[in-house]
Parts: sequence; structure tokens; C-alpha cells
Amino acid sequence: MVLPPRLARRLGSTRTWIALGVLAPVGMLLVSALMLLDLRRDAWDKAEQTSQNLLQVIERDIARNVEVIDLSLRAVVDNLRVPGVEALSPEMRQLVLFDRAATARDIGVMLVLDENGDSVIDANAVPARKANYADRDYFQAHKARADIGLHISKPLVSRLTGARMVVLSRRLAKPDGSFGGIVLGTLQLAYFSRLFDRIGLGQGGAINLYLRDGARLMRHPYDEADIGVNIVGAPTFERFVREGRGSFVATSVRDGVERHFAFTQVGDLPLVLNVALATADIEAGWRAKAAVITAVVVVLCGLTACLSLLFGRELRRRAEMQAELAQMSLTDALTGLPNRRRFEGTFEHAWKSARRTGKPLSLLVVDADHFKRYNDLHGHAVGDAVLKGLARCLSASVHRPDDLVARVGGEEFVVLLPDTDESGAERVADKVHAAVASLSVEAGRIEPGTVTVSVGLATETGVAFERAGAQYEAADAALYEAKATGRNRTCVARRAPAPHPLGEAA
Ligand code: GH3
Ligand code: MG
Ligand code: MG
Repeated sequence: MVLPPRLARRLGSTRTWIALGVLAPVGMLLVSALMLLDLRRDAWDKAEQTSQNLLQVIERDIARNVEVIDLSLRAVVDNLRVPGVEALSPEMRQLVLFDRAATARDIGVMLVLDENGDSVIDANAVPARKANYADRDYFQAHKARADIGLHISKPLVSRLTGARMVVLSRRLAKPDGSFGGIVLGTLQLAYFSRLFDRIGLGQGGAINLYLRDGARLMRHPYDEADIGVNIVGAPTFERFVREGRGSFVATSVRDGVERHFAFTQVGDLPLVLNVALATADIEAGWRAKAAVITAVVVVLCGLTACLSLLFGRELRRRAEMQAELAQMSLTDALTGLPNRRRFEGTFEHAWKSARRTGKPLSLLVVDADHFKRYNDLHGHAVGDAVLKGLARCLSASVHRPDDLVARVGGEEFVVLLPDTDESGAERVADKVHAAVASLSVEAGRIEPGTVTVSVGLATETGVAFERAGAQYEAADAALYEAKATGRNRTCVARRAPAPHPLGEAA
């Protein structure tokens, strides 16, 4: 696949890779965080759903059982009003008053009390077992007020059976409407504990059933000490009563555990039910997953960042190496001067510019005289030292930033002088001769004045040469002339005669 050049350039840039190396992990972290938040919300949604379902099942069961007992109580209230029932034998009266519900498993006792609180009719015994309940709260409550309807007592211990139970009771009225005693049925607390125990809620979960006045009837998990405790005034209970139905997260007043409370009033009874799941249980599964996902993502992000940094570093190193190679390919290794390749590029460019602008461009071709001798007499190393000395002399002879000194052959150099006319170039050539005359090379005991060079000079004036190569050839020819006429001198290229302004015919 061929990438568009801009994209390819971007992908080759170290900065892009470092930016990607930072952005990719940040993006990955962001997406993972969003995903974890989503998973957490799912866990909470599931908890809410579970709580509401449990609440509904339990509420229905309790409401139905209380209704069954209440129907029996109402039947007694109604039947006692039927003329002639009073006059029946105790056995007949028992049969008429109490239905089969009175013998249901969790109904402990069903009694009719007279206005003094004495048991007068007993669903389970004829004659009635003797006991007085005038001191019980529910008896006092009905005696004090006629409009209570169904009354549910706080948890009590049965005087007849010793079992823990709550008492459900209704008022009996005499024909004149005055207080005529009560009819009561008991519901054993064992019923609630059995009902709650069937439900698995996790370690910190709890189910509570309260009377509307704050007295706890039952708690799961069961603890004897919890039964009957009144939590009215606790912020959680205030909300249960105020809102009737709903859910919220709060810290339990009982044990300080943070829980999600789903609560409801049981039917239209004075009972409040809640299912509370511990926050820790709700989030346990999520936490385990979150830990694994976080660990994996952090490791991956770290790896990505490291790899990107390494990659970026590698790219930078490669770029530096390329730059170095490019520099090397244009530089002469011995003298450190620009080499022939660099000179050719620059010369071509400068020549075209001179043609365009009409500004003069001078070229000196400089060749060491009898250089072979240095090698032959002193060895190659000394020859090299002389070449380095010549490079220094040439470099010292030019000053403008655009001037270029290059080594183009064994002991052959060029000096390119843009915007310099012939006489200026001759002055530079003189400086070269002077500098070379003072060159000494200690290693070969070469004294100043020993080394000389010949120089060929050609100047492009904007019209002189047809191509850059022609100017070079002219300078080279001038150099040949300098060699031929005794060396250690400068020869200026003969220019082609300028065409006569009036043409050949004149
Ligand atoms: P002329 O005055 O006619 O230029 O004589 P010359 O000896 O300088 O010219 P010639 O072209 O015959 O010899 C050039 C010598 O330069 C040949 C070679 O031994 C030497 N030379 C070329 N490149 C190098 C180099 O890199 N190092 C050294 N030490 N010598 C070199
Ligand atoms: Mg030479
Ligand atoms: Mg030569």
C-alpha cells in the first residue's frame, strides 16, 4: 500500500510516535475506566433488581399469612354478634367461631378475652385455658380506642405456650358499642425466621421486619438480641417510614456496615420490611474483575508507552545517522573540506544564479606543484600532512559566507567565489600563493617557501560561458598554462572575444 506523502512523513517523525505512545495508553485507560464504570453500574442494577424481587416475595407471603389470621379474627368478631351463639354449648360455639385456619402451623393461640382480659373462649381447648391478659399493651390499646382495627403487637413470649410470637387482635364491642373484650391470634416469630432463612443474601446481607413504631420483629441473620429492639429515630428507619417504598445506600445503625436498603411497607399493615445487601457483597464480583482488567490494561499501557519511546528513539538515531552519512558523503575525509560532489552541486547552482543575475562568478582551480616529490621523498604521511596544510591555507584565503573551498582530486582544490570579478579573484589567488608560501610541515622538515601551487582562474560574467562545465574547463586550461609557464603562479583564462556590437559585417 502506498501512503500519501504527508502521512508517510508524519509516521516517520519521532514526535508522532512519542505522541502516539502517550495518547494510545491514555485512550486505553479512558476506555477501560468507562467500561469498569459500566460494569459497576450493572452490578448495582442487578442488586437493585434482586432486592426488589425478594422484597416482593417476602411481602406477599407475610401479607397473606396476616390476612389469613385477620380473616379468622373478623369471623370471630362477626359470629359472636350472631344471635344464639352465646347460648351454644362451649364445644358448638368453638366449632362455629373458629375455622381451620386457627390450627395452621404458625398460629399458636387463638383466644377471645372478655372486657377484663380473662380468656373465655379458646380455639384449642374446651374449656378455655385460664389466663389474664389485661396487662398486655394490645389489650390496653383496644380498651382505650375503638377504631384501631387490626392491632399487631411487639414481639412477646406466649403465656400459654412459651413461644416467641406477635399477637394480632381485634376489638369486640358489646351491643351498646362499649368495650367487650378482644379476639386475638398469635403468629409465631419462627414463621418469619423460617421465611427469611430460605433466602441467601451474601455475607453482609440482612432482612429486617419492623413494626411501624420502630420495634424489630425479626432479623436475618437471626440474633436473639435483635428481636424487640426499637430503632425509631435512626435515619434509615425515618426514611423507611417517610417514603413507604424505595431504596437507598446508607450505613446500618446496628453494625456500621454500608448497605443498599430496599424497603417497603407490607400491604397496608403497620409493618416495614427491608432487604439490605452489603455494598461490599454487591461489588465483590466487580472488584475482582476490575482488579484483573486494571492490571492487564496498566501493563499493556506501560508496554505501549515503552515500545513507542524505544521506537521513537530508534527513529531519532536513524535520522541522526542518515544526516551524518549525508554529511560524510559530501565531505573529504582527509582535509574535512567539501568534496567534489558537494562542489559540483554548489557550482552548478552558483553558475546558474550568476547567469540569471549577471553578477560575476569566479573559479580558481588550485594544484600543488610537483606534489609527487613530497610523497617520494618523505612518504605518503607527509604528503597527507601537506594536503591538510594546503586546505588550511586555502580556507584562510576566503572570508565570505558564500565562498567555497573544496578538494576535487588528489592534490587539486577549487575555490568558488560568487559575486567576485576577475580582479577580486586574482587578489584571492595572490593570497593563496602567499599563504602557501608560509606553509611548513614539521614532520617532513618542509620549510616555508617550499610548497607552491599553480592556479587557473576563470570568471563568469553572465555571458562568458555556455555552461558551468565550460567555465571549469577554462579554469583548468589556465591551470595547465600556469604549469607550462613555470608553475607557482596564476593564469587567467582567456575569454572568448565579446561579439562586436555591429556584428560580423561591420
Ligand atoms: P605537477 O606540478 O605537474 O602538478 O606535478 P605533480 O607531481 O603535482 O602532479 P601529478 O598529477 O603527476 O602527481 C600528483 C600526485 O599527488 C600523485 C599522487 O602521488 C599524489 N597524491 C594524490 N592524492 C594524494 C593523497 O591523497 N595523499 C598523498 N600523500 N598524495 C596524493
Ligand atoms: Mg600537481
Ligand atoms: Mg594534479
